[in-house]
Amino acid sequence: MTQTHLSIVALAGGVGGAKFAHGLAQLLSPEELTIIVNTGDDFEHFGLSISPDLDTVCYTLAGLANPETGWGRAGETWQAMDNLRQLGAPDWFALGDRDLATHLERTRRLKEGQRLTEITRHFCAAWGVKHPVLPMSDDPVRTMVDTAEYGELPFQEYFVKHRCEPRVRGFRFEGIESARPTLEVRAALARADAVLLCPSNPWVSIDPILRIISPLPLGDPLTGAGGPGVRVALSPIIGGKTVKGPAAKMFAELGIPPSALAVAEHYRGLLTGFVLDRVDAALAASIQAMNIQTLVTDTLMPTPAERKRLAEETLRFVLSLLPAPS
Ligand code: GDP
Repeated sequence: MTQTHLSIVALAGGVGGAKFAHGLAQLLSPEELTIIVNTGDDFEHFGLSISPDLDTVCYTLAGLANPETGWGRAGETWQAMDNLRQLGAPDWFALGDRDLATHLERTRRLKEGQRLTEITRHFCAAWGVKHPVLPMSDDPVRTMVDTAEYGELPFQEYFVKHRCEPRVRGFRFEGIESARPTLEVRAALARADAVLLCPSNPWVSIDPILRIISPLPLGDPLTGAGGPGVRVALSPIIGGKTVKGPAAKMFAELGIPPSALAVAEHYRGLLTGFVLDRVDAALAASIQAMNIQTLVTDTLMPTPAERKRLAEETLRFVLSLLPAPS
């Protein structure tokens, strides 16, 4: 591990967030890295509390994730699902046997009154995940997707049941006004030198986290005073397309041509730095014109080694953006 003695907070959704968090976790100690995860995708199914982004991040850090799907566990079996199908139960959301046990135990603990933060800490300890993984809030937030065809759909119905096909008109984060960041989230942000926005979906993975933490003081981007001054985002859009998922389609349907530039503009006012892919190098000048420093590199992370390399380059970039000690 590289001892940077930096305190880094990464904001993450599922697939893209988990990959980059895995890269950071290969370099930074548990004292140096905290991962704050979106819970707007959470939902209840068969009476179970399911937290898809938290599970993807934890499974990935634990080395338990299914590399083909980007969600769920490797070596999964599907006996419960087979029986559910036979019984005529809804089968649009795939629940592997091992994954199902995670949801059963999470639900049992929530019903006992435990906080999602404590439950996640316990799961991480059991799976051998050393880095703190924090839900953005212990209060429920539910992302609703407003679509042209069906009106408002709960996120998982849009994402899984309708395979992201409906045309998006907007988003609503139910419960966000009353949801609070946890003490753990506040403490991690208070001691952070830099906040990294993983290459996750800006609309439905990062925005809910930003909405939750936005009442917290973020430091001055020039002096670092008052909180994490350095804020760097990585683009989930490469060459106008997403690697996986509907982020580019969402930009287009909301009337914004999808590109790394559109992502930087989406976060405008928040960022000190932005990481974009080599294929988008021509966009770097426009991003710099927004007073955002850029790092142009290869941003595809199919393997653990690629994740580590991108994390290493990003951390070097972060170091270059930190205010010089006075
Ligand atoms: P979700 O909640 O499971 O959709 O996961 P995220 O929001 O964390 O991740 C979805 C985003 O990750 C998509 O917009 C993808 O383009 C992006 N993504 C996935 N793999 C990679 C990768 O290897 N590199 C980059 N730059 N982005 C990626």
